[in-house]
Amino acid sequence: TSSSSARIPPPENPDAMTTVHEPAAHAPAWVRDIAPYVPGKPIEELARELHLDPAGIVKLASNENPRGPGPKSLAAIATAAADVTRYPDGNGFALRSALAARLRVSAESLVLGNGSNDVLELVTQAFLTPGDEAIYAQHAFAVYPLATHARGAKGIEVPAKDYGHDLAAMLAAVTPRTRVVFVANPNNPTGTWIGAAPMEAFVAKVPREVVVVLDEAYDEYLAPADRSRSVSWIGRYPNLIVSRTFSKAYGLAALRVGYGVMDPSVADLLNRVRQPFNVNSLAQAAAIAALADTPYVEESARVNREGMRQLEAGLAKLGVAFVPSHGNFLLVNVGDGARVYAALLRDGVIVRPVGNYGLPGFLRVTVGLPAENERFLAALARAIGR
Ligand code: PMP
Repeated sequence: TSSSSARIPPPENPDAMTTVHEPAAHAPAWVRDIAPYVPGKPIEELARELHLDPAGIVKLASNENPRGPGPKSLAAIATAAADVTRYPDGNGFALRSALAARLRVSAESLVLGNGSNDVLELVTQAFLTPGDEAIYAQHAFAVYPLATHARGAKGIEVPAKDYGHDLAAMLAAVTPRTRVVFVANPNNPTGTWIGAAPMEAFVAKVPREVVVVLDEAYDEYLAPADRSRSVSWIGRYPNLIVSRTFSKAYGLAALRVGYGVMDPSVADLLNRVRQPFNVNSLAQAAAIAALADTPYVEESARVNREGMRQLEAGLAKLGVAFVPSHGNFLLVNVGDGARVYAALLRDGVIVRPVGNYGLPGFLRVTVGLPAENERFLAALARAIGR
């Protein structure tokens, strides 16, 4: 052990201690201080831990599409598999062309990401240096603080209003050091949503030198009339970046593919810091097929709406409160999130604890298929003694 060794808790077990040798002890303080992202528990992991049959486990923990990938995506993956010996198209020509046609933007406005998470990271890489500030809301998606802190920048968390973004307060938090503002719409994990008029009014008021990221990972779940028109605002606000994903309604979470829409001059910057082959060829092929398969996405949105009503009705019957949601998940007030989470796990139901979002009394439950929702409601009733 060197003299600079330090004892810090490992992320997976904050109660234990691990010895940090050089060079870890010399990593920047802002990296050592990062609170790691905690993903939803994988089915196989719970099966191993509790000796359960994986087939009997219900996972409603990561806002995945419970219907699985669409048949057209699967066929495209099978075809593309034959060519995995080649590097993917680093420019994503075909996928960007398909998206450009769909969104009525130029291909130069599009940046592909290894998940939309990658787009969020690219924004922080391109715009944040140590000492800069990024603004996000309390209870907003966990990657905003993560990606901000990884650059040594300062995260400004603005208190939520009714679990959602307080846009006026976020605007008031802008300082000369602010470089980026993140808004999740709908927000994960709260499911809150801001309509087009107040959203555009906010974007219009943010100083032009500050990048506004509108994270629309759940846009496809909104009623068609409510789906965001923010992409069409980019011509007016060159500091606006809209991010979307194929991980949710399109059912391709494991392939990791998302995109950002922005002014071409901003896209050019993000492309400079982007890994040359950040989106693999299977993902590109599947995304093109998924984008064309409108019926699959619409049916997924419909199944989600029905599942949401099922969960809302079941929770109301149990006398359990929840935050009305515009996404494919529901923030449920169970009183003691950690205890009920553990009880549900023992019952083979994986949901998401959200204590790390400052919501220790809640659990986030992804809307599943009818039988999965029923499993959750029954397990919840047992867990809380109703
Ligand atoms: N934004 C929000 C609001 C999310 O909830 C998620 C997924 N948890 C993402 C972005 C990132 O998803 P992906 O990287 O799979 O596109």
